[in-house]
Amino acid sequence: MAEPQTLPLLEVRGLRKHFGGVKAVDGCDFSVAHGELIGLIGPNGAGKSTVIELLSGLVKPDAGTIVFDGHEIQGLAPHKIFASGLARCFQLAKEWPLLSVLENLLIAIPPDGKDTILHAFTSPRQSRAAEKAARERALEVAEQYRLYPLRNDYAYTLSGGQKRLLEFARIALARPKLALLDEPMAGVNPVLQTQIEAGIRNLLAGGTTVLLVEHNLGFVERLCDRVIVMVAGRVAAVGSMAELRENTIVQDAYLGGTSVA
Ligand code: ADP
Ligand code: MG
Repeated sequence: MAEPQTLPLLEVRGLRKHFGGVKAVDGCDFSVAHGELIGLIGPNGAGKSTVIELLSGLVKPDAGTIVFDGHEIQGLAPHKIFASGLARCFQLAKEWPLLSVLENLLIAIPPDGKDTILHAFTSPRQSRAAEKAARERALEVAEQYRLYPLRNDYAYTLSGGQKRLLEFARIALARPKLALLDEPMAGVNPVLQTQIEAGIRNLLAGGTTVLLVEHNLGFVERLCDRVIVMVAGRVAAVGSMAELRENTIVQDAYLGGTSVA
């Protein structure tokens, strides 16, 4: 008997986006399996960030299909895509500067459908119970992301790196099916990089699939079993970092003939 076929969580086919004469994304195909942490690398200008914008709906594709969790989502509004379970990191997480860290976490928790204002009037007791549960969960995640001691501070007082941790915590609370991370380690110090790395693993452990764009190949190698290489708007190769290092197409296109470090 044949093995049951598991559909990928995300399937991108023939994705294209040109800006005037710039072929930012030019016929891009790849897929992401449920539960994996997959890397997306490539030289500057390869089209990685544009792919992320296309997936999250902030930029509309010229052509191509994006099937997410069994549904075509290309061209949908960003909030619809987000509601379907696809979160772009740093999209949700413009933190609210004049709310506390804890309040920022509480508003990231999606309503469970029952927890409406009407419900608060008609069943105040259940509503208070839901509020208590949300608070406990927010504090638990604050602890996980080392934000617990800062929970009562205004978000605007956080350092850049702490804001990034707050964003990870908010994504963890929103529990998306897929998180798109565009260079989350960029511009943060080594201690925070370690915490962000732990944050990425936490997201994964919580059941979120992760697509990680990152130019530090050391991180990519440590975190990702499978890596997509984009060159000039297309996927040039997919494989483990070890396999990609041996791939001459990748060597030539990605690093002009030198080996992938
Ligand atoms: P990467 O993230 O891999 O460095 P990008 O997706 O940011 O690459 O960019 C791919 C190409 O598309 C680059 O040449 C970039 O200048 C161009 N580009 C990206 N966004 C725009 C835009 N909004 N308008 C015009 N050109 C853009
Ligand atoms: Mg980029």
